[in-house]
Amino acid sequence: MAPFTHLFSCTFSPAYYGFCLGTSDLHCGGPFAFWGMLCQFFRFLVLRQPNMCSPSLITMLLVFGSSFSWPGPDTWSSQGHCNGKRQSPIDIVTSSVRHNPKLGAVTLTGYNDTKKLLEMKNTGKTVDIELGEGLQLSGPGLPATYTAKAFHLHWGDGVHKPGSEHYINGERYSMELHIVHTKNNTSLSEALKDPQGIAVLAFFVQGYEKAQGKTAEAWELFKKKLKDVEEKGEETKFDGSFSLQDLLGRPELDRYYRYPGSLTTPGCDEVVLWTIFADPILVSEDVVHAFPNELHSTDSSTGPHIENNYRPLQNIGDRKVESSAALKHKSAATIASPPQELAEALLVPTNVTLDGTFTRVSSTAENTHSP
Ligand SMILES: [Zn+2]
Repeated sequence: MAPFTHLFSCTFSPAYYGFCLGTSDLHCGGPFAFWGMLCQFFRFLVLRQPNMCSPSLITMLLVFGSSFSWPGPDTWSSQGHCNGKRQSPIDIVTSSVRHNPKLGAVTLTGYNDTKKLLEMKNTGKTVDIELGEGLQLSGPGLPATYTAKAFHLHWGDGVHKPGSEHYINGERYSMELHIVHTKNNTSLSEALKDPQGIAVLAFFVQGYEKAQGKTAEAWELFKKKLKDVEEKGEETKFDGSFSLQDLLGRPELDRYYRYPGSLTTPGCDEVVLWTIFADPILVSEDVVHAFPNELHSTDSSTGPHIENNYRPLQNIGDRKVESSAALKHKSAATIASPPQELAEALLVPTNVTLDGTFTRVSSTAENTHSP
């Protein structure tokens, strides 16, 4: 049979669908790895189901590197609410936001308590940090007091491939930290039933070679803990040497954007009030590199790295992003002309092209953490 016929039959034949047939690679080209790999590629495109036992698949993974995985966010549309009209993340275009003079500073209680950072776990998709009881968030525009449950991060592939989920004016930052709170201290599952059940505080984290001070030091300590959770499922306890507040630095809690959105992982529940702080936390570039380089998405230290664990941009639709009182005028000026030194740190490459279309470099497998 001609190679093209082999390729066609091994891609579409039901005999291969979902089975690990010992002869499949023979039919797909056998020793001819090129045809085998093409077959796997077409099978993935057409059937979304590669032959998991195939030597060609293994070869292909080796060829394309550890970041290749499936199914990514582009396959989520059928899951939960992921195809809804109130999805996150979004690009915040500051010229289009609605200034709300009633949005003053948020109030954080207990965030400076070093005993509240309990445990960090590698979930295979991110690191999730469990928080102790008593960290509370309140403020203008929030319908209740919210209690912090946990935080996690999203990142790209190091400093030069940033991986924040939200964008500001088409620019993204190295990483994004999400502190997940539930309304009136309900459980996460209860919060999912309320359209305002979850409040997320989002902080941009930017790699900066000159980062120093107490915040940068806290992130160095945090980075060291990553070594304890390199493999999926591993957990480590914190020793009380720093607090969540130490990681956040001294954020200007009156400079933020607010909009209604969703979890950024399936089922993309539309229950989140997002508060996205305008000013990034500056950390050393080593810290930014550590996340994709040290963490693995399987329970093996030779497994794929966790990288690019962000969801692509979603349509804003007819929603309006509000800016806080302190961001009037100041926001546009700050973003347009930051101090020279900081501008250097903040001008990072993005995946957004000039015509506004989004191109994703790669994606991790399906995420199950939230949001
Ligand atoms: Zn998140």
